[in-house]
This record gives sequence, C-alpha cells and structure tokens, in this order.
Amino acid sequence: MTKVSAPIHMPIHMIDLIHRKRDGGELTPDEIRYLVNGAANRSIDDAQLAAWLMAAWLRGLSRNELNALTTAMRFSGETFDSSHLGKTTVDKHSSGGVGDKTSFLVAPIAAAAGIAVPMISGRALGHTGGTLDKLETIPGYRTQLSLAEFEQVLKIAGCSIVGQTQNLVPADRVLYSLRDLTGTVESPYLICASIMSKKLAAGLNALVLDVKTGSGAFLRDQKTAELLAQLMVQTGEAAGTRTAAILTSMDEPLGRFSGNWIEIWECVDLLQGRNHPMYADLLELSLILAGWMVYLGGKAESAEAGRKLSESLLASGAAYDCFLKMVEAQGGDIRVFEGPATHHHPNVSRTLTAWQAGFLDCVNCTEVGWAVQRLGAGRTHVGGPVSAHAGIEMHGKNGAVLASGDPICTLFADSVSQLDQAEKILLRSFTITDTSTKHGPLIRKIITANNQS
Ligand code: URA
Repeated sequence: MTKVSAPIHMPIHMIDLIHRKRDGGELTPDEIRYLVNGAANRSIDDAQLAAWLMAAWLRGLSRNELNALTTAMRFSGETFDSSHLGKTTVDKHSSGGVGDKTSFLVAPIAAAAGIAVPMISGRALGHTGGTLDKLETIPGYRTQLSLAEFEQVLKIAGCSIVGQTQNLVPADRVLYSLRDLTGTVESPYLICASIMSKKLAAGLNALVLDVKTGSGAFLRDQKTAELLAQLMVQTGEAAGTRTAAILTSMDEPLGRFSGNWIEIWECVDLLQGRNHPMYADLLELSLILAGWMVYLGGKAESAEAGRKLSESLLASGAAYDCFLKMVEAQGGDIRVFEGPATHHHPNVSRTLTAWQAGFLDCVNCTEVGWAVQRLGAGRTHVGGPVSAHAGIEMHGKNGAVLASGDPICTLFADSVSQLDQAEKILLRSFTITDTSTKHGPLIRKIITANNQS
C-alpha cells in the first residue's frame, strides 16, 4: 500500500527565504513571486528585502531563480502590448558608458528598415550620461509619455525613446533603490533581472545588448561583463525574445563629444551625412548594433547584411527622416537641426594640451565620465537640473601621436570653477607615453543563444 500525504500549502515566510539564500539554497518560483509582489506592494519590510538582496549578491542565483525573478518583476506592473503595431519590435540596450550615444543612430536606422523600436531609457547614472537628459536638450522634446502616446509615436516614426512610466516594473524601482543603499548594485544576476524585466515589459520580439567592459564600464572586468551578457541572453531567450549581446570596449569616450546637447549634435551630423575622423568608433559600433537589430528583426539574412542595409539607410537620409519624425511627434522643435549646432552654447571653454610629445592614453575612462558630470552635464543631487551644453570634445583617440602643445580635449561649462574641477580630474585620467599602449579591439565578443560558453 502506498502512503499519500495530504497536500499542505505552507505559508511563505520571508525569513525562510533569507535563510535559504544565505545558506546557498534555491528558492521556488512561487517564493520568488511572493518576494517580488511583496516588494512592489510594499508589504515586505525593507530590511528583509535588503538582507535577501545581499544574500543573492553573495550567493548568485540559479538559472531558474533568475528566470523567475525577471518574470515576476516584468509583470509586477503595467506592460506595453506591442502587438497593435503590426511590426516586429526590436530594442537595443547599453550597460552604460561615456559618450555612449548609439541609441540616437540605431533607433532611427532600425525604424527605417521597417522595425518598430520601443526604447525605454534612463537618466544619468553615476559617471555615465543619460539618454533622456540628452534628448531633453532638444526644445520641446517630451520624454514622459503615456503608453498610448508611446504607441502613437511608434506608429508615426517607427521609433520612440521615452522614460519609464510610474507603473512599469514597480518592483525594480523598490529593489533598485534598496540596492543603491546597500552596496548590492554590482551583481550580474541582479543587474540582469533589473534590466531584462524592464526590456521584456516593453513586449519585444528581439533585443540587442551592448555590454561594456573596460575602465569606463560599470563591470570593468571582461569576465564579469561576459557573465552578465550570457545571463541576459539566456534570460531573454527563455522569455521568447531573440537576444544577442555584443561585448564592447569602454576604455575611452565613444566618438567625439561627451555631454548632452553636443552628443545629440554628433548624431545629427552623422544622420545628415557629415563625418569626422573622431566619429569613427561611434559609427562602427552603431552600424554593428543596428545590423544585429535589423537581422534579429527579420529584415536581413545575417548581421553582416543588416550592417550593409543600415549603412545605406543612414546614407540615404531614411534614418534621419525617422529621427525627425520621432522628435516632432514627441513635441520637439526640429528647426534647431537646420543651421549650425548653436541652440545651446557654453559660457566658458578651455582646451587642454599635451605637456610633452608621445602617445595619448586614457588610463581611467570612468574619471573622464566624472569630469563630464562635474562640468555640469550630470546632477549634483537627485532631481536636480543638468546643463545642456556642458561636456568635452576629444581631439584624439588612444594611441594618437601628440607633439608637445597639441590639443587633447576641449571642455565646455557655465563657470571657470567647473572647468578647474574637471581639468584636475582629466589631468589624472590621461597619460602621454613613450610607446603606444595596447588596448583591446572595440568589439570584444558576440554572444548569442548559439555560442554560449
Ligand atoms: N541599469 C539598470 O536598469 N539596472 C541595474 O541594475 C543596473 C543598470
């Protein structure tokens, strides 16, 4: 005779979930849902959530736990139903860097290829700039749209870049602010759940991730960045979203300008068909990312063919048309792009020059990012204003040959004291060496569902 025990539904207690994670055990999907719902509706004490986050930071999460956490967070609030658009939806997300402005190129390029790009972006974080802060330097551009308005812009322009709504993934808002306070931000598992829950809540068919590594990245070490990339690819694919991650170098600012308005203009220059030697790495990375978006969105046979299509959509002006439509549909005044980039201009500027002959080397790109923020491009307090025109223009890339007195970079700000502060930081962020320092290539690795190690 077999004995069958009566099914017993044990109530879940948060303290048990903390003990189990602390001791290296695994939580069930039901337990993870309990935790996420309790975070979103504030029924679980912050101290207990913070203790669990620290246990997860120390122990990591199993694949099942990570999928359950991401899914529970994704559905913790409202989600965007992209099926009304009648198009494949593809987005690009970057893990954050200095001068990282590829969104303003790849979104309109992919839109011009016939893909819908619902891009939900953020503000400046730490030493990195914010996509929304940059866009808001365009007079009238609205970044806070309702989901209905978001859908309308996507129908008109094929792409829309907006901020997170109040009700999209509310669990991340609570968990992220606790992580910020408790030293638990830099966990590849928690970063993966945080980013992917927001991306998947936008109802994507495919996603291309630009995961940065190097001295200007949040995860500087390539192995940790690679782990994050693999986790995000696995999590995206498990949720039915085709996902590819490009591991890219963030050893120096991307492109020519780092700031807000000046980054928009760098992209407008490229969209209008102008080029500059300092745009080369930005253009290369943008075409690779757009190529993957176009390929995963089913508009090209391969990522290489997607890149070629992207190049032609940029050259023909079709991408610029989508950009202008997006800006106009979000309330922006597109007349500012008709003349030179003079809508915002700095009160003061200063050019730093080479103190000796040699090869330029950016030894700490995070510090360059902090210098840009100190010039006024970033916030000094939560919710504070950012300066539209502040930032830096680089005159050379790593390995550039400098004669004594050659320009290294030009700083733009409101006040001389901001220039002084930034100059001090920059003088320890760059060196001039006798022999050229070797840096890895811009594209370090491509990680897809088929080539996970
Ligand atoms: N960006 C996010 O949205 N979440 C993280 O955890 C880190 C960066």
